[in-house]
Amino acid sequence: MLVLLNTYPLLVSEDMVFHSKVTTMQSNVSVMVYSLSGLDRLNEENVAAAMAVVEETGLSRILVTDAEGKVLYDTRETGSTVGKYVFFSEIVSALMGNDASSCVYRSGAFRSRASSPVLYQNRIIGAVYAYEYDTAQAALLEGLQVNLLKLSAVIGAVVLGLSLLLSMALTRKISRLLTAIRRVREGAYSHRARIGGHDEIAQIGQEFNSLTDRLQTTEDLRRRFVSDASHELKTPLAAIRLLTDSILQTDNIDPATTREFVADIGREAERLTRISEDLLRLTRLDSGVLDPATAVEVLPVLEQVMRMMSLVAQEKNVDLTYDAAEGCVVQATRDEIHQVIYNLVDNAVKYSAGGAVQVSLGTEGAWVALSVADNGPGIPEEDLSRIFERFYRVDKARSRAAGGTGLGLSIVSDTVRRRGGTVEAVNRPQGGAVFTARWPRMEGGAAL
Ligand code: ATP
Ligand code: MG
Repeated sequence: MLVLLNTYPLLVSEDMVFHSKVTTMQSNVSVMVYSLSGLDRLNEENVAAAMAVVEETGLSRILVTDAEGKVLYDTRETGSTVGKYVFFSEIVSALMGNDASSCVYRSGAFRSRASSPVLYQNRIIGAVYAYEYDTAQAALLEGLQVNLLKLSAVIGAVVLGLSLLLSMALTRKISRLLTAIRRVREGAYSHRARIGGHDEIAQIGQEFNSLTDRLQTTEDLRRRFVSDASHELKTPLAAIRLLTDSILQTDNIDPATTREFVADIGREAERLTRISEDLLRLTRLDSGVLDPATAVEVLPVLEQVMRMMSLVAQEKNVDLTYDAAEGCVVQATRDEIHQVIYNLVDNAVKYSAGGAVQVSLGTEGAWVALSVADNGPGIPEEDLSRIFERFYRVDKARSRAAGGTGLGLSIVSDTVRRRGGTVEAVNRPQGGAVFTARWPRMEGGAAL
C-alpha cells in the first residue's frame, strides 16, 4: 500500500504535466508560425521583425530556421547559433513537414520541445523550434513526493505500533492460557484461566475453564469413590480381624461360640464378596464395554426374581405382589434386567418391613416401564436427587444394618442408562416410594 501511495500519484501527476506541457508548447509554436505566415521567404530581418511582435511566452529558447536548416533567429544571447545549421531532430522533422513535440523529466526539471514547419503556398520555407526548461513544476512534484514520503512514514509507524500492541495483547492472553493449562496438568484442578474480552482466545479460555470444572468434578467423584470404597471394604475386614483375634486369644473357648464367630466371619466375607462384585460391575459399566444386547422378554426374568424374593419377603413380613403384561421386550441382556429388578425389589422389601410391595410391568408408548412401589418410610425430598450416587445412603446406620452399601441404585441407574433408558424415584402421597425404570421398547427386533 505504501509503495503504491508513493508511486501512483506521482506517475499520474507527471503524466498530467507532460500532457499540458506538450499542448502549451504546440500552441506557442503555432502562434509563432502564425506571425511568420504571409512571408514568401524567410531571412534574418523579416523573421526578427515578425518575432518582435510575438508576446513574451516564457520559453527558454526559440529558433527559427530557413528551409535548409540555417538558423535565422535565436533567442539565446550567448552561444547564439544564428547563421549556423542546426539539426535537432524536431527541426529535421518540421522541415519534412511534420509537427513534433516531446517532454521529458530529468535532473529536477521538465524539458519540453516542440517544432512546426512554416509554409508559404504549401511550400516549406522554414521551421520554428521552441524549448522550455521548467523547474517550478518539477519543484511542486518533488514537494508532493516528499509529503507522500512523510505521510508514508507516519502511516508505517502507526501500523507498526498498532500491530505490536495487538500482538503483545494476543501473546499475553495466550501465555496466560498456557500457564493455566500447565497448572491444571500438574494437578491444580481449582486453577482457572482469567482472560477478558470476547475474542476467540477468551472463548478458548472459557471452554478450558468449563473443561477444568468437569475435570475437577470427576476428580472429586473419583476421590470420594476411592475413599468410600476403601471405607466399605475396611469395615468387614476389621470385623473379621476382631472375630479371629477373639477366637485365637480366648482360652478354652467353647465350640458353640467358635461356631457363632466363624459364622459371623463367613457373613462378613460374603459382604466383602458382594461389595467387590458390585464395584467390578460398576467399573465395567464405567468402561463402556457392554455385553452384546439381545431382545429380552422381561416377564420371565421378573417371575424368576419374584420367586427368589418371595422367601425374603415372607421372612420380613412383607406382602410382595406383581402384575405384569406380556410382550415387554427390550434390547439388553438377561443379567442386566435381573440386576435392575432384583435391586429395586430388594430395596423395597428391605426398607418397608411389615408393609406391602407392588411391582408392575407394562408398556408406555415407546417405552417398557417397570415400577416398584412400597409403603415404607419413603425418601426425604432433599435426598431424592442423590440416592443414585455411589455409596449414597439416606440413613447410613439403618441401611448398613440392613446390609446395604449404597451401590445398588447406582448400578441400576448406570445399567438402564447404558441401554438408552431412564430411572426415576418419587415419593407417593400416601407414603412410601416408587422407583420406575424405563427402556426403549422393541417389537419385531426393532426399536419402536
Ligand atoms: P445395596 O443395594 O448396595 O446393598 P443400599 O440398598 O443401601 O445398598 P441403594 O440400593 O443404592 O443402596 O439405595 C440407596 C439408599 O436409598 C438406601 O440406603 C436407602 O436409604 C434409600 N432407599 C432405596 N430404596 C428405598 C426405598 N424403597 N424406600 C426407602 N429408602 C430407599
Ligand atoms: Mg439396595
